[in-house]
Amino acid sequence: MLPSNAPYVVVGAGIHGLSTAFHLARELRSRGLGSGEDIVVLEKTEPGAGASGIACGVVRNNYFQPAMSELMQACVEVWESDPAVYHYNSVGYIALGPDIQEPDLVATYERQERIGYRSTLITGERKVDAHMKELFPDWRAKGVTACLHEHQGGFAFNRDSVLGLLGKAEAEGVRVLSGVTVTGFDIRGDGTVGAVVTDAGRLGVGEQVVVAPGPWAKGLWRALELPDRIDVRTPSGELARDLPMWTYWNLQEGEIVVDPGSFATADGGPPPVIHLDTDAPLETDDGALVTDELWGIYFKRDRHGVQGGAAPLEVDGDVELDPYPSTTDVDPTFPDMWCAALSHAMSRFEGCRPSYRRARSGGVGAFTVDNFPVFDYMRPNVYTILDSNHGYKMIGVGREVARVIVGEHSSLLYPFRFERFATGDLHPVSHSPYPWS
Ligand SMILES: Cc1cc2nc3c(=O)[nH]c(=O)nc-3n(C[C@H](O)[C@H](O)[C@H](O)COP(=O)(O)OP(=O)(O)OC[C@H]3O[C@@H](n4cnc5c(N)ncnc54)[C@H](O)[C@@H]3O)c2cc1C
Repeated sequence: MLPSNAPYVVVGAGIHGLSTAFHLARELRSRGLGSGEDIVVLEKTEPGAGASGIACGVVRNNYFQPAMSELMQACVEVWESDPAVYHYNSVGYIALGPDIQEPDLVATYERQERIGYRSTLITGERKVDAHMKELFPDWRAKGVTACLHEHQGGFAFNRDSVLGLLGKAEAEGVRVLSGVTVTGFDIRGDGTVGAVVTDAGRLGVGEQVVVAPGPWAKGLWRALELPDRIDVRTPSGELARDLPMWTYWNLQEGEIVVDPGSFATADGGPPPVIHLDTDAPLETDDGALVTDELWGIYFKRDRHGVQGGAAPLEVDGDVELDPYPSTTDVDPTFPDMWCAALSHAMSRFEGCRPSYRRARSGGVGAFTVDNFPVFDYMRPNVYTILDSNHGYKMIGVGREVARVIVGEHSSLLYPFRFERFATGDLHPVSHSPYPWS
């Protein structure tokens, strides 16, 4: 049942809402300020019903933007803190790219060295090929001149990790109420939110609200009476006027059903997650040209085979998000492309197309105007976690938000404040074809 009020209200039980609730409960308890019983999480469906429950689950540091990379390091620390409960597989991550991406990967590697994130950089086509063949003797991808091998990171099982977080939050006394939809906010004259309005009644707010809605960001943004379109100051000082705050992209993902053990390293070990971008022509196993432009895929070993995806497709206009994610509109040629790319990478995947299965993966993500997260107070007592679809891996954001809520400053979250759109303090952009690199 919905209580009449609560000191802290969290909207959304995905990775961010639950991580915030769990870490906030710990902060309150350890500081003698309260406990998890002061926190209510409102979830319209059930924990993990959103993007966190279908994410491929890749956890990596490979970001060209310094602020993203530093934040990811803190997130990996959280994943590593309890791998069993988070169902986290610390198998590492490999990013491979062609000439055009080499400077980005070099810069990322150099930063990782500075911040103490364990990785190895290999450059030059022959050396990259040798490194990959040592891991996978049947490696055969072409046109790859740089390889960033991260020895930390890997992947986690999406729903299981959400349920792990849920258990941790509930053990701290947090109440997670499923089947309650937030429909609006009572906004007072001073701009603070006095109550959260739901389809089960009103919930008075004693202290603060955290909004972590994943793909439903635009609806909650509107409910907070924030603008649909904004002006953005570019780093060069120009003003780009009236840009849409939110856009949607369809993430294309799928899997092949094969013996998971068949995707192993040469010594029989678990394979790192692989992200391959190249401009080498891509052909199907029958020799038909798929593309001769820059293409990319990512893939990992999963419980029933190999799972992964390719570059997402921008959606023109709005989308109907519910029921999530069954509205996903994947390019019909995606399975051919993805399977051809797997085969391009390793001969063990030759002929894998008949094993392709359309699984419960792939879905829509909501992206901000610059494709990077907004982590900020958007009302005096409302903190928003709007991750621009970067964030299953960002399990540590909730830990930082919890610290901010109890009054600390987070230098890791500061670069993601909303004010950057007015000041031009934007994040640098890489050469990747993905909106999240
Ligand atoms: C197909 C796909 C693959 C991805 N793969 C990766 C990956 O490999 N690695 C990675 O780091 N990221 C990945 N992402 C991105 C990542 O999944 C998201 O950025 C992240 O899960 C968002 O977490 P969240 O907690 O903000 O949102 P969600 O997990 O979507 O949770 C939000 C919750 O809020 C609830 N909700 C929404 N509106 C309301 C309301 N009005 N009232 C009450 N409850 C509400 C929803 O039901 C939902 O459960 C992927 C995303 C997609 C779509």
